[in-house]
Amino acid sequence: MKTMNRKLRIVSAFVLALAAVANAQVTKEEQSALTPDKVLTDLMDGNARFVAGKIGDPEIKKRVTNSADGQYPKAIVLSCVDSRVPVEMVFDQGIGDLFVARVAGNVEDQDQLGSMEFATKLAGAKLVFVLGHSACGAIKGACDRAELGNLTGLLTKIRPAVDAVEGFKPEQRNSANKAFVEKVVEQNVRQTMEDIRKDSQVLSEMEASGTIKIVGGIYDLHTGKITLLK
Ligand SMILES: [Zn+2]
Repeated sequence: MKTMNRKLRIVSAFVLALAAVANAQVTKEEQSALTPDKVLTDLMDGNARFVAGKIGDPEIKKRVTNSADGQYPKAIVLSCVDSRVPVEMVFDQGIGDLFVARVAGNVEDQDQLGSMEFATKLAGAKLVFVLGHSACGAIKGACDRAELGNLTGLLTKIRPAVDAVEGFKPEQRNSANKAFVEKVVEQNVRQTMEDIRKDSQVLSEMEASGTIKIVGGIYDLHTGKITLLK
């Protein structure tokens, strides 16, 4: 009887260990059962944990091993390159959870779109998340029409967002005006979302059919909180 109990305990421990592995990472079946709304809730819950300083155990070593032969990420995030916005960390996600595309000012181009189409249509991600952040240096540069090598061309892509923001006098439309910069940060995320829909038939069709959602949010450098754009 004792031997039997011991065996049972060993089996239970083994089953629990397997369950822990399953919880740590999304499987192919779990990924296909996800909806865009479930993924969005998952990411925003992760950000709440990050804000509270309670980011979970990503079981990094297990995840490296488990994901080596395949990946089933939940979302693709397009974010700025800013060192203060580490994407997986601010959403409390681990290895294998997210595709991340990064470029200063989180603007889209053909290569980013190709990456998003791969992430969603081919690799099953359910959400495209455009993530801007407060006090973005690229946005400030675009507000001031900064010029430097290849950066000039990149900032040109943000200019339509700068020009679209209304309600400020000409002398208020520069990087010294925090309120103006924050408006442009938001407008730039909205514009990127629209550009994605306009420039990618694959993604706009997937969104129209409800297979994916395209959402935008702003990360606050002071609080770590991400606010979804309505
Ligand atoms: Zn930035």
